[in-house]
Amino acid sequence: MSAPILKNFVAGKWVEGMGGLVEIASAVTGETVAQTSSAGLDFKAMLDHARTVGGPALRKLTFHDRAYILKDLGKAIMECKEELYKLNFQTGATRKDGWIDIEGGAGTLFAMSSTGRRHLPDDKIFMDGPAEQISREGSFMGQHIYTPRHGVAVHINAFNFPVWGMLEKLAPTLLAGVPAIVKPATNTAYLAEAALRIMVETGRLPDGAVQLIVGSVGDLFDHLTGQDTVSFTGSAQTASKLKNHPRITSQSVRFVAEQDSLNASVLGPDATPDTPEFDLFIKEVVREMTVKAGQKCTAIRRAIVPMDLLGAAEDALKARLAKITVGDPANDDVRMGALVSQAQRDDVRDKIAILANESEIVFGDPHKVEVIGGDINRGAFISPVLLRCDNPQSAVNVHEVEAFGPVSTLMPYNDLDDAIALCNRGEGSLVMSLFTHDGQIARDFALGAGAYHGRIAIINRDSAKESTGHGSPLPVLVHGGPGRAGGGEELGGVRGVKHYMQRTAIQGSPAIITGVTNSWMKGAETDASAPHPFRLKFGDLNIGKTIETKPRTITLDDIEHFAEFTGDNFYAHMDDEAAKANPFFPGRVAHGYLILSFAAGLFVDPAPGPVLANYGLDELRFLTPVPAGDTIKVRLTAKSKKKRNDEYGEVRWDVLVTNQDDEAVASYDLLTMNAI
Ligand code: NAP
Repeated sequence: MSAPILKNFVAGKWVEGMGGLVEIASAVTGETVAQTSSAGLDFKAMLDHARTVGGPALRKLTFHDRAYILKDLGKAIMECKEELYKLNFQTGATRKDGWIDIEGGAGTLFAMSSTGRRHLPDDKIFMDGPAEQISREGSFMGQHIYTPRHGVAVHINAFNFPVWGMLEKLAPTLLAGVPAIVKPATNTAYLAEAALRIMVETGRLPDGAVQLIVGSVGDLFDHLTGQDTVSFTGSAQTASKLKNHPRITSQSVRFVAEQDSLNASVLGPDATPDTPEFDLFIKEVVREMTVKAGQKCTAIRRAIVPMDLLGAAEDALKARLAKITVGDPANDDVRMGALVSQAQRDDVRDKIAILANESEIVFGDPHKVEVIGGDINRGAFISPVLLRCDNPQSAVNVHEVEAFGPVSTLMPYNDLDDAIALCNRGEGSLVMSLFTHDGQIARDFALGAGAYHGRIAIINRDSAKESTGHGSPLPVLVHGGPGRAGGGEELGGVRGVKHYMQRTAIQGSPAIITGVTNSWMKGAETDASAPHPFRLKFGDLNIGKTIETKPRTITLDDIEHFAEFTGDNFYAHMDDEAAKANPFFPGRVAHGYLILSFAAGLFVDPAPGPVLANYGLDELRFLTPVPAGDTIKVRLTAKSKKKRNDEYGEVRWDVLVTNQDDEAVASYDLLTMNAI
């Protein structure tokens, strides 16, 4: 029986390429797992479909609507995960490796869904920072906003994480409201295709929101425009070729690249063999070498240790590597599976040969490995290989050549500055890790190496148990690195979503900016008519609804009573002379908390009603001191709303407390939960 033919997903239909089938071999047995082709596809029509059908459908939804779609997609992946695990073994990955890819991918969808619901509004426009006052009277102002770009996100993915690699890009793209065309790497396209099929079958993806190309992208690049984004993961060579495509330059197409990375891990000078940090470092280096057979963009390629610990580190690493069993990843006794293909293994062997010009292989033979199960001749197995480079300061290749397999080079440093300089010789990496228990050493590294690394994981005895480790990109933290790593940035919570949106500075009057953003701006109209805003349910409460309270005079008795009641006898409230000596006060003044409490007493409508709870204050500032005898009043205005669930939503109120001279005494945002 011939291997199944993968299908492209084009304009809502699964279609086979027209001829030119490429066979994809199992990494374990060499047998053909699938055949694939994208020949004959109309790539321009795919782009048009995404732009004219997928984009508009996604833009009709709010961030929260789209966040719920991500959640449902993640649930579907989890429900069908065993189907994906079966295919995962064929890529050479163990179940543990597959967990990172499959459940890590679903986890990324869940995390980005949660980011969308927590940090983005239930709206279609996202405000970037606070309003900018640009005129003296306040009638003309500026507000930066983000809206979804009207193009397509073209995702070109690497072979190593066919599911996670697809989902970590799809999650921010869809959340932003932008359709995607995904092109997985051919070697593992069968796993990406299966994962997308599961998501399509949920019926939750609007037509045109995601399309799939299982093969070459043909002339797709010739039809890109300035509204499109290309997000590429793979080798520097391919990145450079694609980045320099005439269409990318002529149309200023956004191009995000995640490419090679010579990630380093450093054993701090304080981490001697008798410390927990030494053991943690050894474990992490071996883990990073062998998880996914070292085919991880974040894997530790350079293990950098103090000169006097070189021997101890080498012995410890070798002892641990000796325990790694290689073979059929479906076998429970196997710790490390195969590389993705024999071609990849040839490439890794070639790269080891280059590295060995400057270093000595101290563990493993690139051409010899014992395997448990699998087909040693047709599979893509290789032993973990540890090299040692005694003069990394003068070596070149060790900082430049990435063997994308279970390969790492151990090297010594002389002092902290030398360690930092060696890390930075990678000329830009996705991640570096540092094993230290010393805050000053950590700071020196952050300052000295920060510019060269997208992420710095500092691990020690305090964090080890909960640490996510050197190699795991996290949805809430940026993933990407400068220079050799491609200069791109993905993930990072809302930061990742912004990559697919356009930032625009909107200028206008407060009423206009309120109209654009659905968020009340100071100076815009208010509605102070009855009823009291606290009597209105979430759905009936309009932005700008206001209450202006009656005044209340603050007496010395109030201040003393408050001091005694709360126990806050701070001198500024209790000792006139001492208060006068303070540069901020004219004499004894009311407590800030007294003002807040009295303000609440003025604006609250006490009877049970739609306001369910006070949820907190933001941006609180006390602006003018209030001595006894001053009279305060409050203006409370509904500023913005965010639905939380079917029962209640969060209302943000703009609160301004003023005195008898209309000077601002305090200003803050009050948050309440209101019944729907
Ligand atoms: P690659 O050859 O550059 O392939 C990467 C992707 O580009 C694949 O989907 C490939 O498709 C596609 N591609 C190749 N030529 C293309 C072209 N002319 N037009 C459009 N697409 C094209 O990379 P690889 O060797 O498979 O992947 C390993 C490399 O990726 C390593 O260097 C690793 O460091 C890097 N990587 C980086 C990250 C990161 O986040 N920084 C993550 C994973 C991997 P085909 O498979 O169909 O050729």
